[in-house]
Amino acid sequence: MKLHWKILIAMVLGAVVGLLVNESTSVPGLGFLDSAARSVFGPIIGPLGDLFVKLLKMLIVPLIVASMIMGVARVGDVRKLGSLGGKTFAFYILTTFMSVAIGLLMVNLIRPGIGGSAMGAEAPAAAGTSVTVSGILLGMVPANPIKAAAEGQILPLIVFCLLFGAVLTTMGSRAKPLVDFFDSLNEAMMKLTHWVIWLTPYGVFCLIAAVIATTGPGIFANVGKYMICVILGLTVHAVVVLPLLLFFVGRTDPRRFLSKVAPALTTAFSTASSSATLPLTLECVEDEAQIPKRVASFVLPLGATINMDGTALYESVAAVFIAQLYGIDLSFGQQVLVFLTATLAAIGAAGIPSAGLVTLAIVLGAVGLPLHGIGMIVAVDRILDMFRTTVNVWGDATGSAVVSRLMGNETPPEVSIGRRVSA
Ligand code: ASP
Repeated sequence: MKLHWKILIAMVLGAVVGLLVNESTSVPGLGFLDSAARSVFGPIIGPLGDLFVKLLKMLIVPLIVASMIMGVARVGDVRKLGSLGGKTFAFYILTTFMSVAIGLLMVNLIRPGIGGSAMGAEAPAAAGTSVTVSGILLGMVPANPIKAAAEGQILPLIVFCLLFGAVLTTMGSRAKPLVDFFDSLNEAMMKLTHWVIWLTPYGVFCLIAAVIATTGPGIFANVGKYMICVILGLTVHAVVVLPLLLFFVGRTDPRRFLSKVAPALTTAFSTASSSATLPLTLECVEDEAQIPKRVASFVLPLGATINMDGTALYESVAAVFIAQLYGIDLSFGQQVLVFLTATLAAIGAAGIPSAGLVTLAIVLGAVGLPLHGIGMIVAVDRILDMFRTTVNVWGDATGSAVVSRLMGNETPPEVSIGRRVSA
């Protein structure tokens, strides 16, 4: 059976088990599940899910270092690198703008916060964290790359690797030992990724079961309309905008491409972390969809950190929803500000669970909305995080196919449009 089917089955099973456990106290006859839950869920299922996420995280830093440096070194010369970087960045910023626009359109049409009340909203601890635009920009350069790696600060690490890789391209044959070293490290990390991927269905089962068992279906009641708004917006972006770009600009068949990257998307959904999913995204895009390594190993690590279409869309909806709840009418100018700051906040968000909830403070601060409003949406954040992370990773994968094409590469037959004509 294909891996993505195994993962999908694991997700459904996890959801069913989680629901049963969550309902075990309220539904007569399910009481025995309650004690089972206490002895199995707390000590076993939850930690097993965490273990899986830890295994994925273990891969991130060495994988990013090796793949980013090799990604840049493979490009060969710095001018070509400029062109690859420019196209990647242009694609990322364009798609992020589109997703924010969709979010704003949805939230202004559905108006999920009108008629609601923000009374009693408690700000979560995260809302107190101050995130500023200058902080994001300054944080991009590591004072000490080793420290950045040790602390898992991905964006500054990427900036260092980009520069390091660029230097290697200027050194000719003297760079060979280093290039060989990072090439071999890259191979080894991909192999290790393979081993971890084998565990994905089990990890996904544990993660989904644990989330549903603790949140349950009840949380949907209060903020259901807001959730529908976010999920609808994400769906439009993921099934209309990105596939159209894939088809027309990337000359790639969206459905075939989707089937190749499905394991990465399901992992994104269950881990709610683009960074933790990166090893799988690289493997699916390079080995399954056959997008050239020199493009994918540059575009994907960068995308996992700065390209977050789902997060940007969610932040724009959340900000306007909070304004509606407080009865604050946002002017057109303020909505433009939401548009710009949501884009920046998404770029600044790390590829980890709930990062978007923290950087939402930038958007709220920019238009003068009460940070306490975050308290209204925190309960459903994990669920929405799963959806937006999936779209984030889908956006990165799409980017690799489109940028590869823009760099003049043929679309690989595995994902190209139309049937292959046999000779
Ligand atoms: N969890 C998201 C990601 O890793 C970021 C966010 O919180 O929106 O892509």
